[in-house]
Amino acid sequence: MFRRQERMIQIKSDDEIATMRAAGLVVGRTLELLRGEVRPGVSTAELDAIAEAAIRDAGATPSFKGYHGFPATICASVNDEIVHGIPGPRVLEDGDIISLDCGAIVDGYHGDAAITVGVGTVAPELVELMEVCEDAMWQGLAAVRIGGRLSDIGHAIETSITGRGGYGIVEEYTGHGIGTEMHQDPNVPNYGRPGRGPRLQRGVALAIEPMVTQGDRATRLLGDDWTVVTADGLWAAHFEHTVTPTEDGPWVLTALDGGAARLAALGARASAAG
Ligand code: MG
Ligand code: MG
Repeated sequence: MFRRQERMIQIKSDDEIATMRAAGLVVGRTLELLRGEVRPGVSTAELDAIAEAAIRDAGATPSFKGYHGFPATICASVNDEIVHGIPGPRVLEDGDIISLDCGAIVDGYHGDAAITVGVGTVAPELVELMEVCEDAMWQGLAAVRIGGRLSDIGHAIETSITGRGGYGIVEEYTGHGIGTEMHQDPNVPNYGRPGRGPRLQRGVALAIEPMVTQGDRATRLLGDDWTVVTADGLWAAHFEHTVTPTEDGPWVLTALDGGAARLAALGARASAAG
């Protein structure tokens, strides 16, 4: 059943992957810049303006702006908002958490990544929520290997999350292939049994992005037709990186160090590409 999907996976040359690394570094640097700007009193529109300036100053183009009509450079999703929040006048308050999702295009190739950041001092259970989501993303990234199966990624993510308690794993939104478009085949669910789907090969690029909730996994779409919130109003975290498998291990194209530190901490191999 995966045969059709397998045919649709875009395989990039080494030169194309190098361009994706350039796009990924723009995204990674922009998110680190934003992390430093998140504080009580800043508006999500201000964060969006900072991101757009950073991406354009780097000679890149925001992936999101105009994507199916999305009006901004970043998605800014606060508290019970899971993904696709639209930046605007909302001012962040002490104790909030915000997911910042960002994409950039360099020479026609996309990078896509997201972080969730606490605003000021956040409750310990929210720090844990963010850790659970980020750790699960890294387990998923570590499962990206040449010859491995696509569903090994979702299985690693799900196993990591369920091992940490009764969190919800969002199912309606998934990771995805990425390359000359931001969203390509295949979908990469954040759950599932291992050993299924196409085998990963050199030149595949994937965005791995678990969304984890404090409560039930059910979601609801707000009237703006973009913002996805938890149905039960509890809060959510979202982390994302773009990755490609290499003979040495995963190369995390949107991580400033290529993923070396976090993959090493998991005892996983990491690309020597840097
Ligand atoms: Mg994204
Ligand atoms: Mg994505």
